[in-house]
Amino acid sequence: MKTIKDMLLKMRENLAQEIARRSRATTEPGAQDIGDIIDSVSEERTREMDMILTDREKRKLRQINDALDKIEEATYGLCEECGVKIPKARLKVLPFAKYCVECQEKNEREEKYTREEPDEGIKKVPMGEVEE
Ligand SMILES: [Zn+2]
Repeated sequence: MKTIKDMLLKMRENLAQEIARRSRATTEPGAQDIGDIIDSVSEERTREMDMILTDREKRKLRQINDALDKIEEATYGLCEECGVKIPKARLKVLPFAKYCVECQEKNEREEKYTREEPDEGIKKVPMGEVEE
């Protein structure tokens, strides 16, 4: 039986292979074990990750690791906003979904609103808290 966890692990493996392939082409062979870096995304590894991964890959990797953490904590599939169970059908299409459809739409509306007034939004964000 194929579980979402298997799916996520496979995705992480594919991502690691993709990065390793590219890394071998651009850096010296054997200099870096990408799999190890991806398995332990600790603080001191972040700099190495920054050099190797594109923003898209970093985001994807974080989403995969977040989802795997949630599976371990048995909070996977629950909306982070309202705590409601996200339907299995939605998770199969969007395995990294953090919100139910309702909250997702609400967040997207708010995000859009924030983008329409970038000057105010930037002033309100203190330095060092820009992440996401
Ligand atoms: Zn919700």
